[in-house]
Amino acid sequence: MDSARSWFHKFQPRDRVRPSARKKEGTGAEKEETIPTAGDETPSNVTKQKVAAAKQYIENHYKEQMKSLQERRERRNILEKKLADADVSEEDQNNLLKHLEKKETEYMRLQRHKMGADDFELLTMIGKGAFGEVRVCREKTTGNVYAMKKLKKSEMLRRGQVEHVKAERNLLAEVDSNCIVKLYCSFQDDEFLYLIMEYLPGGDMMTLLMRKDTLTEDEARFYVGETVLAIESIHKHNYIHRDIKPDNLLLDKYGHLRLSDFGLCKPLDCSTLEEKDFAIVNGPNGGHQGDPAAPKRTQQEQLQHWQKNRRMLAYSTVGTPDYIAPEVLLKKGYGMECDWWSLGAIMYEMLVGYPPFYSDDPMSTCRKIVNWRTHLKFPEEASLSSEAKDLISKLLCNVSQRLGSKGADEIKVLYGVS
Ligand code: ADP
Ligand code: MG
Repeated sequence: MDSARSWFHKFQPRDRVRPSARKKEGTGAEKEETIPTAGDETPSNVTKQKVAAAKQYIENHYKEQMKSLQERRERRNILEKKLADADVSEEDQNNLLKHLEKKETEYMRLQRHKMGADDFELLTMIGKGAFGEVRVCREKTTGNVYAMKKLKKSEMLRRGQVEHVKAERNLLAEVDSNCIVKLYCSFQDDEFLYLIMEYLPGGDMMTLLMRKDTLTEDEARFYVGETVLAIESIHKHNYIHRDIKPDNLLLDKYGHLRLSDFGLCKPLDCSTLEEKDFAIVNGPNGGHQGDPAAPKRTQQEQLQHWQKNRRMLAYSTVGTPDYIAPEVLLKKGYGMECDWWSLGAIMYEMLVGYPPFYSDDPMSTCRKIVNWRTHLKFPEEASLSSEAKDLISKLLCNVSQRLGSKGADEIKVLYGVS
């Protein structure tokens, strides 16, 4: 009997002891604390805020639940109505309704499931960048193949790129266009952020250009046209890519082009540069040279030099400045027109083999870009048509004259479409 009583004595009503005091048992801090009763103390502002946040959360949760239930009911009503209007047997009607319910349940299950890196089997590595890597991966439950872009959080924080990453994720999720890589989902763990995107097996434009040296004008026409559509689709959402270059133009299994890598721009860090650093340097022969010591090379030699450096530049943490518009480098404010400049630089590379302002070192490239008037030249050996040169010159020019600055239609009309 005594032991039974002592067993009961161990019971301490919950509302008389603070959980924190209970947890601290055995640490010498188990002084019994009584919770103040109403009137003893009014809740602090922090507590009030917490209560309001919890209330909001619960309300939103139930509102969302009610909304999705209602939407589910509406979908059923629509199907029932369609079936009633159509000439379908009762048995088929029941089967179709059952099928819909099954799909709805599956969808709810998927929504409840929190995706994580463990849901994917990692396959080949296809890209490595400043913030992480891109791999082909297979979703374990479905067997579907995707591209997983894995970004190291600490690295993004260190470089102050958090906003860019958010922008990338939002843009990919928001813009539903055939010209842009599709994003299926995103999630994170303590160390990394993950973007699960459609896998584009055609590789990137940089690799294609390295393999082929140059493209024919017909081939370039096709890819430039598709890039115009891709740029147009992001500009429509008021988004400037700012880092359009061949490594970010991917090809799908049919050979169609899609734009990728939003927000994770890796512009050359020119923040320490001043206007005078871009000043035209007079060469030994009085000519304006980006780099007076630069060796004179034939088109073929320049192409080989470029190709030798290309991959290294792509994987370097600073990236290559070759496609960046002068106004971006000068940090004097820029708009969507800067993406059309990049298109001009890419088109030049497609036809000539290397970008228009290529130099042995990135700083000289920046100087040449800013002083583009003296440095934009078309090598004789490349034998570009006058129309191609004209289009490139209308893209690689001042913002006010640049084609595309009044909308993509300015370029589309040249193709006979708008
Ligand atoms: P980074 O910020 O490192 O430049 P990207 O998103 O451009 O990252 O990816 C790097 C490379 O990985 C690309 O140049 C491309 O070759 C490859 N890649 C990226 N996304 C995909 C994809 N969805 N499908 C196929 N290859 C991809
Ligand atoms: Mg990239």
